Amino acid sequence: MIPFLDLAATYNELKPQLDEAVMQVLGSGQYILGNEVALFEQEWASYCGAQFAVGVANGLDAIILALRALDVGPGDEVIVPSNTYIATWLAVSAVGAKPVPVEPDPFTHNIDSSLLEAAVTKATKAIIPVHLYGQPADMEPILQFARAAGLAVIEDAAQAHGATYRDRKIGAHGDIVCWSFYPGKNLGAMGDGGAITTDRADLADNIRMLRNYGSKVKYINEVKGHNSRLDPIQAAILRVKLGVLDEWTDRRRQVAAYYSEALAETSLILPHIPNWCAPAWHLYVIRTRDRIGLQERLKASGVDSLIHYPVPPHKQLAYADAGLAPGSLPIAEELADQVLSLPMGPHLSHGDMCTVAEMVKLHA
Ligand SMILES: *Cc1c(COP(=O)(O)O)cnc(C)c1O
Repeated sequence: MIPFLDLAATYNELKPQLDEAVMQVLGSGQYILGNEVALFEQEWASYCGAQFAVGVANGLDAIILALRALDVGPGDEVIVPSNTYIATWLAVSAVGAKPVPVEPDPFTHNIDSSLLEAAVTKATKAIIPVHLYGQPADMEPILQFARAAGLAVIEDAAQAHGATYRDRKIGAHGDIVCWSFYPGKNLGAMGDGGAITTDRADLADNIRMLRNYGSKVKYINEVKGHNSRLDPIQAAILRVKLGVLDEWTDRRRQVAAYYSEALAETSLILPHIPNWCAPAWHLYVIRTRDRIGLQERLKASGVDSLIHYPVPPHKQLAYADAGLAPGSLPIAEELADQVLSLPMGPHLSHGDMCTVAEMVKLHA
């Protein structure tokens, strides 16, 4: 079976460096925040071209703390994509605000900025574009609209490590950029991890306080904070893996380029990449009306595939109370019925990549 993603291979490639980094933290006596987290924050900010980075416990918390730092709470509305991983919506709900979905451009899968105007009300406070599958959303019109309407922009970049938008890395286009280091992400820890990046010192300071019980000075609590700190063992692992992120992104780009060329003559809808961005290729997602059939035939031929995501947030039981009936967000629903993610990762061998493309051509 060709696996969708070989996570053990990411460890095997870097085993000596990762083992040493972890052992060094174990021997340091510093097990909460400390030097390793501070160094990773500096290196991650610098990699992203942002002034500041703050490490947090996971990607969901990164969005929650970003919303809190911008004072979003009960009674407020936040515009989110209708097709995203549910975390984007859950963060808005967690601060007591209401997620207001906006449909995507069906070709890029990212939020359609021409639909923002119609979604804004007096209660709207922020927009959260998601760089879905590692492909940057079109930030320029989103930022222009947000500035004119007085709205904050929080980017959900959980899938976009190393992606560029108009020749600048994702990391500080919006007010706050939120990252996940979940193991399967392009920059993955070996457990949970997350961060925010920003150019605004006030927001970075605020989130640094919020992640640590609302405290700058031990036992002095300025606000009702969280316990959401990046673990120093994970920070040490992330520092090692950051060293190979560009190389691993290049390998993903080679796989994507190969798939796009090999599958060009099929009836499948392939990823549509505008020339103003360079995706990080977290996922390579094709579309077909016969998604379930194709997935089954691939599986029978030894090729694993996944669906990102089979049920959009508004059709989840968790949002049954949101008043968004099935059929109310038809583009998100159609995409959810048609998308299929092919094996993708820095350790997909040349042979496996060729087999995947061959089997998709045979069965599509
Ligand atoms: C993974 C992911 C998150 C959440 O990250 P966690 O670290 O799992 O909390 C949020 N948004 C998107 C788009 C994601 O893919």
